[in-house]
Amino acid sequence: MTEKNTVPTVKRMNRRLLTALICVIAGLSCAVAPVLSAFAENGGDALTVGVPVDRCPVFYRDADTDEIVGIGADLMRSAAEAAGYAVTFRAIEEETLKEALDNSAYDVVMPFGSAISSASGRSTVVSDNLFQTPFTLVTEGNRQLPPLNELRVGMFYSLSGVTETVRQLYPGIEITLFEDLSDSVKALRDDKVDALLHNSYVWSYLLQKPSCSDLMVQPSDMFSMDFRAGAADTPAGRAIIDRLNGGIAALSDTRRQAIILDYTSRRLYQYDFFDYLYQYGLLLLLGVLLFASLIVIAVQKNHAIRMEQAEKMHRLIDHDPLTGVYSLNGFRKRVEELLRAHPDIPYLLAFTNIRNFKYVNDSLGMAAGDELLRFWVSKTLETLTDEEAMGRVTGDRFAVLRRLGGDDLLRMDDHKVNDSVRNYFVDQGKEHKVQICGGVYVLTPEDYRRIDVDHMLDFARVAEKRVRSTRKDGYEFYNPDQWEKGKRVADVVSHLPVAIQSGQLQVWYQPQVNYETGLITGAEALCRWNHAKLGWLRPAEFIPTLEEAGLIYDLDCFVWDRVCQDLSRWNAQGKRRSVSVNLSRCDMLEGRDIPGHFSQLIRTYGLGADQLRIEITETAYVEDPALLISTTVKLRELGFQVEMDDFGSGYSSLHMLKEVPVDRIKLDLLFLSSTGDPERGRVIVSHMIRMVRALGMDLIAEGVENADQAHFLQSRGCSEMQGFFFHKPMPVQDFEQLDENTGAAPPAP
Ligand code: C2E
Ligand code: MG
Ligand code: MG
Repeated sequence: MTEKNTVPTVKRMNRRLLTALICVIAGLSCAVAPVLSAFAENGGDALTVGVPVDRCPVFYRDADTDEIVGIGADLMRSAAEAAGYAVTFRAIEEETLKEALDNSAYDVVMPFGSAISSASGRSTVVSDNLFQTPFTLVTEGNRQLPPLNELRVGMFYSLSGVTETVRQLYPGIEITLFEDLSDSVKALRDDKVDALLHNSYVWSYLLQKPSCSDLMVQPSDMFSMDFRAGAADTPAGRAIIDRLNGGIAALSDTRRQAIILDYTSRRLYQYDFFDYLYQYGLLLLLGVLLFASLIVIAVQKNHAIRMEQAEKMHRLIDHDPLTGVYSLNGFRKRVEELLRAHPDIPYLLAFTNIRNFKYVNDSLGMAAGDELLRFWVSKTLETLTDEEAMGRVTGDRFAVLRRLGGDDLLRMDDHKVNDSVRNYFVDQGKEHKVQICGGVYVLTPEDYRRIDVDHMLDFARVAEKRVRSTRKDGYEFYNPDQWEKGKRVADVVSHLPVAIQSGQLQVWYQPQVNYETGLITGAEALCRWNHAKLGWLRPAEFIPTLEEAGLIYDLDCFVWDRVCQDLSRWNAQGKRRSVSVNLSRCDMLEGRDIPGHFSQLIRTYGLGADQLRIEITETAYVEDPALLISTTVKLRELGFQVEMDDFGSGYSSLHMLKEVPVDRIKLDLLFLSSTGDPERGRVIVSHMIRMVRALGMDLIAEGVENADQAHFLQSRGCSEMQGFFFHKPMPVQDFEQLDENTGAAPPAP
């Protein structure tokens, strides 16, 4: 017995002496026996028992009362009470029972299989066996176990006292201690141990956990351990143990079985939160997902309803309730949308009004007025496509955005729509002719760039007012010039494919001559359009339109192809010629492979790359210098000649000269001679020629109109020329004939 433990024992003995003294004194005044029996009935001597509380169902805390209960607790309480003790159980704070034996706060500690020494080395005494505890192995599934002497077994830290017994019984066994059940089960599943060892009562409880459903009890018990209480081997300790043994002896087997049965079968395992989570996790997850989906659906539904309401609101705002067409607000939006989506469609905007609508309402009734408006709308809508729109501005005023279709379409609209409206009441046998006043505004390119619907409507309204004040019925244009122009544009654009197919589009050639030798050295291909209605059109009349409408590439491809056909035919006739073709700035789009197109062409027609000279105008440089330079470089790499067209007519001639590596410069004489002082022009031309020569490039002057100019150019070192002085552009047959006799080319200076 150590010094540390003697103090409480002595204290307890003193306390008992004191009690005995009181009893003696009391006995002097009253009878001793009744007092003693009363004392025993009221609980007797206090006994503090230290126990672990993590061994359900042997020792654990009741979840409701927080009291320490269990098989061990009930057995001990029965035995101790039979021995005249009032028992108090205390959870041991020490990690092991051995350590607890050194704590004087407990009178006894349990459970022990046999007497062991305390952590500090003191010897102990143990009580008689309270009951036999079988120890069982648990494995994962039906695992085949090695012999017990080679087994790797897992146990809880709190059972470390038992490990000594186990090692004695099975010397080769390897024991690993774990903090709790989940650690040990994890080790088992990870194959770090072969089996787990615990007393069977604890297993009977723990294996009810859903998370342990895959654990299997090995059929035979490994060993049994006694279940005893232990105390320090002191006189007081021995006295307690002796007294307890009396109580243990008094415990009947039936009582023991009843207690064990109570805890192993009657008090069923109580699921905790994690058990429920483990067992019903999937269901729970599905539930959560279902709930979340319901919420998402509800939110989406709500959103859809709100969108629908907003849509309804917009429809109400943007549409006219009487006729169903756009309201002014909606019309504005729709027109903006259409102009943005179709900048290539030429449009007109009409503003129309019934002249005597008030009379209709007053004399025929509001309902008749409404009917008329609805009729008008239905008739108009029959003629409109998806790219057109109609809106009700106010009362009897309507606005229509209509594709520009020329006089025919306008006449057709007037007949189909307006005439029906005019005769609406007459057709019903009433004597009232409706009068319609309309104003038309033809949209200009500027209207597509800066879309201002109110502005356009104002213009159309001005024209409509003119009709109202001068005539009784009909329509007028706000901008008739634009109408004429627009008609032409619409005509050109819509007729291009037909023109190409039907031979209305032709390639003409303007010869290029060497003024010194008089020989024709080449030609420039220029397109001509023999329009079915408009007669011969010059490029200036349709090329800008086609460029704007994005159709110039179609035309150019046609011209290049035709030129290659001609060159190929001439090659076959032994007349190898070179021709300059024009490349529009609009042909050079990002992603369009112009050099590839040309090389494919010469492959198709078996031509030499040097037979095609590709003219690029200065203005192309201003728009996208990088693209122009890269296209030029690639064309030259493929062997094509690249010419800078209209040199001198733009604003960046010198810049372009510096940046773009071309083969030949086409000096635009028209520009230099048409305006300003001719003498200054001559000086400029002289210097330009010298400059181009100094840069090592070829030169040709175009727009040469008279002998003076030709002579002057030659005197300054430029003999290659093109212009009306020599030849005008001519059809291919004329050019072929002319070129037969090269000497006939230039007239004498
Ligand atoms: P350009 O490429 O500078 O062609 C020269 C223009 O000058 C031609 O006009 C030609 O007829 C005219 N011309 C030639 N010599 C004289 C002269 O001594 N005096 C006057 N006043 N004019 C002369 P054209 O054929 O009307 O072509 C005008 C422009 O249209 C061309 O200018 C060219 O930029 C473009 N063009 C013509 N055909 C095509 C084509 O197939 N594709 C492309 N993209 N553009 C073309
Ligand atoms: Mg040209
Ligand atoms: Mg030119």
